Amino acid sequence: MKTINHIEVLKKEIKTLKLSNKSIGLIPTMGYLHEGHLSLINSAKEECDIIAVSIFVNPTQFGENEDFSIYPRDLKRDIGLCIKHKVDILFIPSASEMYPPDFKTYVEVNKLSYILCGKSRPEHFKGVTTIVAKLFNLFKPDKAYFGLKDYQQYIIIKNMTRDLNFPIDIIGCPIIRESNGLAMSSRNIYLSEEEYNKASLIYASLREAKRMIKNGEKNPENIIKMIEKMLKNIPNSKIDYIKICNPETLEEVASIEKDVIILIACFVGKARLIDNMLIKV
Ligand code: AMP
Repeated sequence: MKTINHIEVLKKEIKTLKLSNKSIGLIPTMGYLHEGHLSLINSAKEECDIIAVSIFVNPTQFGENEDFSIYPRDLKRDIGLCIKHKVDILFIPSASEMYPPDFKTYVEVNKLSYILCGKSRPEHFKGVTTIVAKLFNLFKPDKAYFGLKDYQQYIIIKNMTRDLNFPIDIIGCPIIRESNGLAMSSRNIYLSEEEYNKASLIYASLREAKRMIKNGEKNPENIIKMIEKMLKNIPNSKIDYIKICNPETLEEVASIEKDVIILIACFVGKARLIDNMLIKV
């Protein structure tokens, strides 16, 4: 595995790889790797010659009062995991490398970036699309892998890729869960034992929603009420949003007639947790 810290070194490496016609699969991450990240690496391995992972806690996607300074980091462990999973290129740039003092250009996907998570995190997706566009330009990957746990992010990146004509396939990979059903996240480390255990109610509520819809429930309000009731049992929690949306446009649906995605964001203790479930109707 080649660990690269500098953009100029990465550019040379990619140029050489492109000459040899090798396909490149990119997995952008913020590190503190878990099974969710590793599943993206494994998916890329099945489809690409070269597996490229980036680890960068991207400052521009954190709000002022968010957890940038305390976001969990363990580079030594991450490097070991990438070696173990046969990653070919690991890119770990510094913030000053990615955002030099004269940096001025941002990429922003309209509308989709201001709803759902974008409402409570106004600058978040602008930071995400800017860093992902930079990584796309640097790595020139054939495919890029994103987890469906961050469903809105996945849709926004698909829109950005289409709108800016990046010749890259965006691959959405399934949500990997803890044994209690909680979606894996680097931020789960912020939870107390009780919060962690009870946070399993998020996934349980999504499963119950699916059951209700399969039994014919068409009114989103009834589903949302049920989820609210279940989430009230998580200690130190506050619901940010529960929405039932069109899986492509992320517009809320008035009645459940076609496939929908149920999206939940919930503060639990010091963590803000998100989860979702695609329901085929
Ligand atoms: P992060 O390091 O949190 O920015 O995540 C990097 C990538 O891993 C993103 O595409 C996430 O959607 C994905 N990811 C994070 N957690 C999971 C999970 N539990 N299951 C699947 N993918 C995940």
